Amino acid sequence: MGQAKKSSKTGANPRPALPDSAGFATRLLAWYDRHARPLPWRENHDPYRVWVSEIMLQQTRVAAVTTHYQLFLKSFPTVQKLARARGPSVLAVWSGLGYYRRARMLHAAAKMVVKKYQGKLPAGSKELRALPGIGRYTAAAIASIAHGEKIAVVDGNVERVLSRLKGKSIDGEAAWQAAQDLLDEARPGDFNQAMMELGATVCLPQQPRCLLCPVSPFCRARGELAVEKKAPSQRKREIRYALARRNGHVFLVQRKEDESLMPGMWELPEVPRNGTAPLLSLRHSITVTDYTVRVVEMPIPEQERGRWIALSRVGALPLTGLARKILRRAEIL
Ligand code: SF4
Repeated sequence: MGQAKKSSKTGANPRPALPDSAGFATRLLAWYDRHARPLPWRENHDPYRVWVSEIMLQQTRVAAVTTHYQLFLKSFPTVQKLARARGPSVLAVWSGLGYYRRARMLHAAAKMVVKKYQGKLPAGSKELRALPGIGRYTAAAIASIAHGEKIAVVDGNVERVLSRLKGKSIDGEAAWQAAQDLLDEARPGDFNQAMMELGATVCLPQQPRCLLCPVSPFCRARGELAVEKKAPSQRKREIRYALARRNGHVFLVQRKEDESLMPGMWELPEVPRNGTAPLLSLRHSITVTDYTVRVVEMPIPEQERGRWIALSRVGALPLTGLARKILRRAEIL
C-alpha cells in the first residue's frame, strides 16, 4: 500500500502518495484475475493471435473487433496462410473494421515474418518494431503479452488512468516512464492488459467508477481531472448511394488507388440528392462524422465508372464497411 501523506493544515482529506509499485500491482492483478473480460484473444498467448488482436484493436472498439477477429483467424489461422493470401482476400475479410491500411501492413509484415524469420514472430519489442504496422505500443503489447518482456504499454486508456493516479495530466515520455515504474515484472503482459482493462471498464473517460476501483487507495484524483479533454463533437452529414441491380448483378465502383481512405475498396456509387424516395436509410459513423445514409434504387448514368458484379461474387470483394452494411440491409449479402 502507498504511504498516505499527513493531512494538510487546512484539514482537507489526506492525499495518497504516489503508488508504490508492488502494492499497486498486487491489487490491480488480483482485480484483473477476477474481472477480466473473457475475450477471444485472451484464450492463450500465441504470438500470432496476440499480434492480430493488437492490430485490430487500434482505433477500434472491442465489441467490433470480437467478431472480425474470429472470422479473420478462421480465414488465416497462421502467419504462413496470411502471407500466402492475395491482398484483396485479406481486405475482404478485414472489411467492416475500417482503417484498411492496418490490414495492408499486417499482410506485408506477415510476408516479412515468413521470409526473414521462418514464420516465427520475433520475440523482442525492438525487432517487432521493425515490422510494418508495428509501432511502440503494439511492439510492447505483443512482447509483454506473448513473450513476457518486462516492458510497459501506454495507450489512451492507460494515459488517462496514470494521469488520474498522479492527479495531473501526463502524456508522452512521462507517461511511458510512469507506466514502466509501476509495471509488475513477474506478470508484465497481464499487468499491461489490466491497466488497459481498468481504463476501458472502470476508469472511464467520463464518470469513472471509483467506488469499484481496485486501485482507488493509490489515486490522487479519484474522479475526472478538472482539465480533461472532452471527446470532439460529432459532425452530421447526409449521403446518398445508388443501388442498381439487373440480371443477378449489382453495380459497384472501386475507390481509386490514390485515395487516402480505403483505396481500392469497392462501394456503391455516390449520387447527389434528388427527389427519389429512398429504398432504405441507415446511420453510419466514421471517426467524428455521423452519416445519415439514404440508398435509392435507380439506373446508373452512362458515364459512371464502375462494374456490374455478379451477386455470387460480391461477398468475396474487399467492400467498404458501409457498402457491406448496405448490401446486407438490402439482403444482397
Ligand atoms: Fe480512475 Fe477513480 Fe480508480 Fe482513480 S479511483 S484510477 S479516477 S477509477
